[in-house]
Order: sequence, then C-alpha cells, then structure tokens
Amino acid sequence: MKVSTKAIHTQFERRDAYDALQIPIYSCMAYEFDDAAYMSDVFCGKVIVPDYSRVLNPTVMHLEKRVENLTAAKEVSAFTSGMAAISAMLISTAAAGKNIVSSRHMFGNTYLLVTRTLERFGVEARLVDLCNISEVEKAMDENTCCIFLESVTNPQTEVADTRALSAIARKWNVPLIADTTIVPFTEFDGKEIGLDFQVVSSTKYISGGATSLGGLIIDYGKFPEISTRIKKEAVFNLGGYMTPQAAYQQIIGLETLLVRYQRQAKTAKEIAEFLCTLPKVKEVGYPGLENHPNHALFKELYGDAAGAMVTFDLKDKEACYNFINNLKLFHRATNLFDNRSLAIHPASTIFGPLSDSERKDMDVKDTTIRLSIGLEDPEDLMDDLRQAIENS
Ligand SMILES: *Cc1c(COP(=O)(O)O)cnc(C)c1O
Repeated sequence: MKVSTKAIHTQFERRDAYDALQIPIYSCMAYEFDDAAYMSDVFCGKVIVPDYSRVLNPTVMHLEKRVENLTAAKEVSAFTSGMAAISAMLISTAAAGKNIVSSRHMFGNTYLLVTRTLERFGVEARLVDLCNISEVEKAMDENTCCIFLESVTNPQTEVADTRALSAIARKWNVPLIADTTIVPFTEFDGKEIGLDFQVVSSTKYISGGATSLGGLIIDYGKFPEISTRIKKEAVFNLGGYMTPQAAYQQIIGLETLLVRYQRQAKTAKEIAEFLCTLPKVKEVGYPGLENHPNHALFKELYGDAAGAMVTFDLKDKEACYNFINNLKLFHRATNLFDNRSLAIHPASTIFGPLSDSERKDMDVKDTTIRLSIGLEDPEDLMDDLRQAIENS
C-alpha cells in the first residue's frame, strides 16, 4: 500500500465490539482481567495489553500503530506534547557525565531543556555547527551519547546533512536523533536518510489544524537499550503518555495529513516567491526556493514539498512590529501548520526570555518574521502580506 492509503487503512489490534469504522476513544483508566495469573503476566510485561491508561491505551496504541505502518519503524511511542517526547527521548539516551552533540539552531524549549534542565543533571550540551562536519567530528568523544538535530531549523531554516552526521554517529556507535516536526514523516524515509530516532511535535501537522497537543518518538530499533528505557522508564516513570482524546484527534488529523501538507507547501512556495518580489523584504528563508543555500540538500533528503514555514526579514524590529500590527487575515499567534495562517516575531516572543547574546549565538534576528501558511486562498494571503509590508 502507498502512504496515502496506509494513512487511512490500518487494522485495529482487536475487532471492535460494534465494528465501528473509526477507533473509539477508550476514555477509561483501568482494564479488567479474568484471572490472577494472566493479570500477573500483564503487569510483569510478559503479555502486552493495556492494564492502566498512563502506560497503554487502545486509542493511543492505534495511533502508534498507524505511525509505525507509515514509517516502517520498529516502535512508536506517543506523548502528551512534542516537548514530552523530546525530553523522554533525551532522558532515555543521556546520563550524568555524558554529552549531547547538537546545534545552537534549536527550538527554544529544546534549547532550554539541554542547556538548563539536563545540565543540572550533569549532561553537557555541546552546541556546534552541524553543517560543518569537521566541527562535529571534533566535538565527539567517548562520552557522547547522541547527535541531535532538527531537520529544518526554526527560524533559521538551516538543513544539515543527515547522512554525513549518521556516518559520524555510526563511528561512535551512538544514535542520530532528529526532530522532524517541520517535514512530516510521510514525505521521506527516516531510516534511509540515516536517522535512528525521530521525535515529532504532532501538535503541528499531524493534529489536523491545532486540535490537540501531542508528541511522537519514532524508533527504528537500532538501539534496543534506549528503546527499553523509552517504553519502560520514560512512559512509566515520567508519565507523559498521550491521552486517548488527543490520540483520537491525531488519528483523524493523520488521515488528511498528505493533502493538507501538499496544499500548504504549494501555497508556501508561492508566498515565498511573492515575498522575494517586494522591495521592503530583505531576505526570504524557505528551503523550497532555488536560491536557498540548502535547497539541493533539502530536496535530496525530504523531497519537493518544502513545508509551510516561511521566514523573511524587514529593515528593523520596528518594521517587524508594524507588520505584525497591520495584519488583517494572518493571525498574530505562535504554533505551526494550523489550517489558518499565522505570523510571529520570534526574537521578541519564543526567544524573548533569552539574553541578547544567546539570541545572537542562535542567529535569531530582530529583523525576522516567521509565517506559518495555512489552507486559505493564496491570493488572499498575498494581499494581506502586501498591505502589511508596504505600511511597515
Ligand atoms: C512546536 C515544536 C516543538 C514542541 O512541541 P509541543 O508539542 O509544543 O511541545 C518541538 N520542536 C519543534 C521543531 C516544534 O516546532
């Protein structure tokens, strides 16, 4: 079956009592057992069926199974948010005395997780330029526990070569972990581009228009010890397993993901090209543009559709604020890949709590606007951008 068919047709683990076509929301916490010995087998992990909904739930299991089918992963784990998945992933991989090799170009909360929270537990963040392979090689040592990257960094729109990073990770026998939120897993083969784990904020594309929070760990099974810690330690002891209500909404979202993504990426490319024609726009960041520094690499790794995040630069911070205030159709909001289009000034919001020097190190500029392109008519979006930029 092709991806678009698989996104919709995945058998339930068990036949539904009423033959419901869609998996029901199993909004229950506990499950009954016929006898004591079987109950013991389940609690001791000899039989994998739900016993308590903090660790297994039929609706959540079905979402996990659909994503397994779509990615050919060995195992998928669903969490309450993208950050819950990322923290479960890194806690299952790192330990005191170990270091994580990653980049300064990172989602704000992930940056704070590795540089603040994990640092307190003795994990070192070694932040380097992941596009500079010799710099990455120099950062590696026997205490490195993983290389962590984002497939397209936000808001810098930088793309690192996962195959080259994977070769380094192989040499040190550590996993290459990628946050692939910006390009959904239906668009590329994670294993083939060298990834050992993907972490995804399913709040974004998967949820189907900002319906619910969610996160996924997609595990290709190369590091069984880490897989066991994710399932047995992170899910059980940290308690960030997805809720059945969110899983239901995300299953529905997954069913329309491909059409939404293709349409949003097509409009985003048109918008990026349009922005390039406006005299007040200094720079446009979109990996689907041929003049983007990582365009060829993006295409090679993730295909033709380059997502729905577009950035551009205006003269200064004041012009950015004016632009934001002038918007009539775009919503002034964070989040990515909602059905409606959104705009934000990242430096003063998502990265606002950081210091000037941290923002400088992360290449988060005062002059940058980030757009998330929705499903509206492209002409209407361009009209709104034109007037908001002209009057900025
Ligand atoms: C939104 C986002 C996250 C965090 O996801 P939540 O679901 O909000 O916790 C992590 N990484 C990237 C790239 C994101 O865009």
